[in-house]
Amino acid sequence: MTALLEINDLMVFYENALAINNVTLHCQEGKITGIFGANSAGKSTIMYTISGIILDQKKKEEMRGGEKITVLGSIYYDGKNIISMEPSDRAKKGIILCPERRRIFAESTVLENLKIGGILAAREQAKQTLDYVFTIFPALKELKKRPGGFLSGGEQQMLAIGRALMAQPRLLLLDEPLLGLSPKLEQTLVKAIRDINAQTGVTLLIAEQYARPILPIIDQGYVLENGGVVLQGTSKELMDNPDVKSAYFGI
Ligand code: ATP
Repeated sequence: MTALLEINDLMVFYENALAINNVTLHCQEGKITGIFGANSAGKSTIMYTISGIILDQKKKEEMRGGEKITVLGSIYYDGKNIISMEPSDRAKKGIILCPERRRIFAESTVLENLKIGGILAAREQAKQTLDYVFTIFPALKELKKRPGGFLSGGEQQMLAIGRALMAQPRLLLLDEPLLGLSPKLEQTLVKAIRDINAQTGVTLLIAEQYARPILPIIDQGYVLENGGVVLQGTSKELMDNPDVKSAYFGI
């Protein structure tokens, strides 16, 4: 099996605080990988480091004389170390982040949000993906003309994933896609995520605090505590693990 993404010995410091501690994590091509951990475990920092957004944060902080952000280690994507690559170049290579708390454009309509996502895609490809997004999330088709800000939390999450799909991902990073959703909506989203992986073959990395609904659909998962990996395994290995059972399943 080939790993599309190989993170080795990653360390991230915000000033002198260690946010990511020696993380090694691999995503196999076409598979679903999970990162699980509580608030502040370091999930978003890993997502920002893979997408490269952390480099923008670093530059901004340097310009305003703020905190020093340090990133050490390597991130191989499709065989190349991308640790210093600009985020926009990573996006062009198919690394697309669907950020925590959706961050959709509230004043733009559903259709406009989706079109913005597909701005760099070829016209025909964008059209086909738009049809696909409406197949996977039929609710969005009905809401095409509604401003993003008027959607429910679940609909906004669908829109955020749809917009990310429009950007033609090869590696799709989903940061806390279930945040704030009802159990019923969680199930709808989890099914859609599994279908997207099965139907398009896109490689998925999902960071989630609520591991329970996601654990069954992953191929490989990592449990993060205080920035370090404390456990890793297949879906079954993690679900059978007594620590995981007590932390996420209450048994
Ligand atoms: P959440 O679920 O709250 O988003 P998370 O698992 O995504 O949590 P991160 O946001 O990656 O965790 O945070 C990891 C650690 O880094 C935390 O201790 C956090 O306080 C710290 N941190 C994150 N961003 C910054 C920053 N810009 N400056 C200083 N510390 C930061």
